[in-house]
Amino acid sequence: MCECVFCAIVKGEKSSHKVFESVDHLAFLDIRPFVVGHTLVIPKKHYDTLEDMQVEEVGLLFKTVATIAPKIVRAVNAHGFRLIQNNGEAAAQVVKHVHVHILPLRNEQRNVFLKRLDLTDLELENIAQKIRESIS
Ligand SMILES: [Zn+2]
Repeated sequence: MCECVFCAIVKGEKSSHKVFESVDHLAFLDIRPFVVGHTLVIPKKHYDTLEDMQVEEVGLLFKTVATIAPKIVRAVNAHGFRLIQNNGEAAAQVVKHVHVHILPLRNEQRNVFLKRLDLTDLELENIAQKIRESIS
């Protein structure tokens, strides 16, 4: 039995604050975000790490990332964005389903050590709504 939390989100067995969905990819808010608008982009098909994917699939995943990241930045009034993509325990990959973090950042956050934010479900959904409107 697959116990992957991201696969459960893909199947709709676990709720998430979705911001974008295509045939192959899904993007939703990190529930313990480092910044407002912190989004995870995943392939719907399960792969543990990037090494398990065909390079063409990796390219398509990052095409989705590059397409939605600027729209997330605009939706939350940020100025730029950082991408993080961890593979394996050595890289502190927590959920073993390939995911790309998009962190929209404001200029004043450039040298700030980021800590996890404690946002309510309603706050997250309001952010997700703004991002969905920006992407569509
Ligand atoms: Zn999975």
